Amino acid sequence: DFQAVVLTQDDARVTQARLQTVSTDQLPDGDVQVAVSHSTLNYKDGLAMLGRNGVVRAFPMVPGIDLAGTVVESRSDRFKPGDAVLLNGWGVGEVHWGGLAQQARVKADWLQAIPSPFSALDAMSLGTAGYTAMLSVMALQDWGLQPGDGPVLVTGANGGVGTVAISLLHGLGFEVHASTGRPQEADYLKALGASQIVDRSELNAPAKPLQKERWAGAVDCVGSHTLANVCGSLKYGGAVAACGLAQGLDLPASVAPFILRGVALLGIDSVYAPRAKRERAWERLARELKPAQLAGNTRVIGLGEAIDTAHALMAGQVRGRVVVDTAR
Ligand code: NAP
Repeated sequence: DFQAVVLTQDDARVTQARLQTVSTDQLPDGDVQVAVSHSTLNYKDGLAMLGRNGVVRAFPMVPGIDLAGTVVESRSDRFKPGDAVLLNGWGVGEVHWGGLAQQARVKADWLQAIPSPFSALDAMSLGTAGYTAMLSVMALQDWGLQPGDGPVLVTGANGGVGTVAISLLHGLGFEVHASTGRPQEADYLKALGASQIVDRSELNAPAKPLQKERWAGAVDCVGSHTLANVCGSLKYGGAVAACGLAQGLDLPASVAPFILRGVALLGIDSVYAPRAKRERAWERLARELKPAQLAGNTRVIGLGEAIDTAHALMAGQVRGRVVVDTAR
């Protein structure tokens, strides 16, 4: 038996989240069983636990789109008992039981080795949020963005994706501007590497399609009017990596920035990204971020605190990353 957060839905389709004891026999099919030492809380886990946006598509569900731990049983040639592994996405925590549990059974294809020198705790200090920040940076670099091109904006700056994106971009030599609704966290964002703070209110209301050219690139965690304003404020030939929807799923934008300034809207998906791309992203994370940087941006909680913390996350009260230590 093991402990897990379990989501159920009643007849009125209201989601309930509880910490429960679950039997190993109840684990879903899969060729690898993992003793999960650490998981995380991402924005999507908050949506899942609060029953929003239809994130969870089968009940009962163990949420948790990320997990890290040690292989205990494997029918795959790629993994053997004792291997340190991590998993991000692939529908885990949405359609297949996820990481907010002490045990998981998953497909070998979804697992990857934890890159050296990271521990399971380091990997989950980044989790899907950190790996998505890296996918966003890679997309901007693949577009050709270089530090000399001008400042890069990060929206939703205090969140998991935002904080890691700031660290990564700063480490690569970019001038980073951070847009936030929490200006009281300005010192924290500057310590991560932001040189200027932009108030969220400058970007989150309807505005003109073409505005002053301010940024050469952007990582947008927010969507909606914010993304539209970012597109309208990119310098000629700039690009924005669109990865989030914290303001909304809509995009009330004009094509003007694309056809008059040649800017690019680069879509980022972490969930079904191919394995080669994930491995490239995780190898870069392990090389470019120091464990001390990760620890400073992370709060560690126990499985029993995950449900309450998910509510705080969805209320925009969590800064940086939350790791769930399943042994606490
Ligand atoms: P998070 O830690 O909750 O951070 C979201 C941040 O967005 C908040 O800290 C806040 O930053 C800002 N924000 C919240 N509500 C807002 C609003 N109404 N208007 C404007 N800004 C708002 O979440 P996360 O895990 O970093 O994820 C960030 C976004 O990326 C989420 O939308 C998530 O679903 C998405 N995401 C997508 C992928 C993908 O594969 N594409 C992967 C991971 C995450 P400030 O307080 O600094 O303003």
